[in-house]
Amino acid sequence: MIYTGNHLSSSKGYLAMGQNALKLGADTFAFFTRNPRGGSAKEIRQSDADDLMRLAGEHHFGPLVAHSPYTMNLCSAKEDIREFSLNMLKEDLVRMEATPGQYLNFHPGSHTGQGAEKGIEQICSALNEALFGSMTTTVLLETMAGKGSEIGRTFEELRAIIDGTVLGSRLGVCLDTCHIWDGGYDLQHFDRVLDEFDRIIGLDRLKAIHFNGSLNPCGAAKDRHARLGEGLIDLQVLKAVAQNPRVQGLPFILETPNDDEGYAREIALMRSWF
Ligand code: FE
Ligand code: FE
Ligand code: ZN
Repeated sequence: MIYTGNHLSSSKGYLAMGQNALKLGADTFAFFTRNPRGGSAKEIRQSDADDLMRLAGEHHFGPLVAHSPYTMNLCSAKEDIREFSLNMLKEDLVRMEATPGQYLNFHPGSHTGQGAEKGIEQICSALNEALFGSMTTTVLLETMAGKGSEIGRTFEELRAIIDGTVLGSRLGVCLDTCHIWDGGYDLQHFDRVLDEFDRIIGLDRLKAIHFNGSLNPCGAAKDRHARLGEGLIDLQVLKAVAQNPRVQGLPFILETPNDDEGYAREIALMRSWF
């Protein structure tokens, strides 16, 4: 069995997200820690966060997978953007303690011309400033499509980030099916992909899946999501990914272009596979 859910809006608060997830048939969900295209954050009411955690416990939810804003880039060539990004990450890691023990997923970043090595160095130095020993959150590096100067297209780059981070034991990986497909990992041979993941990163680091189709062929380095079975990743291939014994127990988050009804349909489809 896997946990299944989608991205939800936090605009009506935390408990409302949990209730919305239940309505859609979900038993996990993702949410942005703050405005995904800006960076402003709403204050979290601890009682609201507690209510969500109670509801999640009662309904046996899997781990929740929060997502950092898209504007965060820890390895921009521009120092002010790196500063702004580091501050958001620091604050969000504190905010995540309102919901203890969950996941915070982020895009490693785009080196914007500095080269991957320099970018990885900057990401590690930011993580070394932001992570703290008493945090209960596991921070997830998302596998990327390799669009532009994105870091995290290869498992080797993610490994290098883990190795360069003092609290690397608190890092995990969120595998995005659209991104790794676009990045050149052939999901039609998912066991081989997992073998490689295990060899380079270690399967125990795999904590969450972003479950998406892709509008582009494998290796396109594009990053455009499709609904399940509607893009170039065959539905049977996605089904085999979800059913793979080595990913059971993980939260599968849909980031497909859908309205609520569409998400409820995809969640029901995934449930029918078990
Ligand atoms: Fe993402
Ligand atoms: Fe994703
Ligand atoms: Zn994407």
